[in-house]
Amino acid sequence: MACNHDPKCRQCRREGLKLFLKGSRCYTKKCAIDRRNFPPGQHGGGMQKKMTEYATQLREKQKMKRYYRVLEKPFHNYLVEAERRRGVTGENLLVLLELRLDNVVYRLGLAASRAQARQIVSHGHIKVNGRRVNIASYITRPGDQVSVHEDSRKLPSVLDSLRGTGRRVPDWLSFDVNSLSGKVLAAPSRDQIDAPVEEQLIVEYYSR
Ligand code: SF4
Repeated sequence: MACNHDPKCRQCRREGLKLFLKGSRCYTKKCAIDRRNFPPGQHGGGMQKKMTEYATQLREKQKMKRYYRVLEKPFHNYLVEAERRRGVTGENLLVLLELRLDNVVYRLGLAASRAQARQIVSHGHIKVNGRRVNIASYITRPGDQVSVHEDSRKLPSVLDSLRGTGRRVPDWLSFDVNSLSGKVLAAPSRDQIDAPVEEQLIVEYYSR
């Protein structure tokens, strides 16, 4: 499976904020952003140059890709789909990424990070509407029931995550901890998405 193999904390330091790529460690004092929040590399700690408009847009795109752990080609495909849909392109892009199955699993608290959620999905531990789905990029729809497969209810990563960080399930999802299942109540609105990105800059980047 293709994915970004750059060290995770390095990616956060590059973007200058927590992207929550390492699960429970991100909520502890060991987080690299809390300890040394400056860009990685030999000159990272020096005085930062003022960024050009292009560099700002590029950084915003990289940040969103890293936040959702999506590579360039599929990310661009999401943008094309977002443009095709009615409404504001930047918001459509965010909504599409939020509705990915790996993100929904993460948001439900069944995984400590999106990387772990992707692994849980691709290993066949997740069902959508009663059928096993092992495609992390599967786009869920309002009304979809997302649950842990009966054989995977005791999966340590799922149980640890549920005990873990105390993340709140967003309003556009519901979750029942007894049945380990959740439901997509509606597509999220922009104010229900806490992604620290300015999506308009990304649209501008691709329209250059
Ligand atoms: Fe990012 Fe988590 Fe590493 Fe902190 S611990 S820098 S949030 S990946």
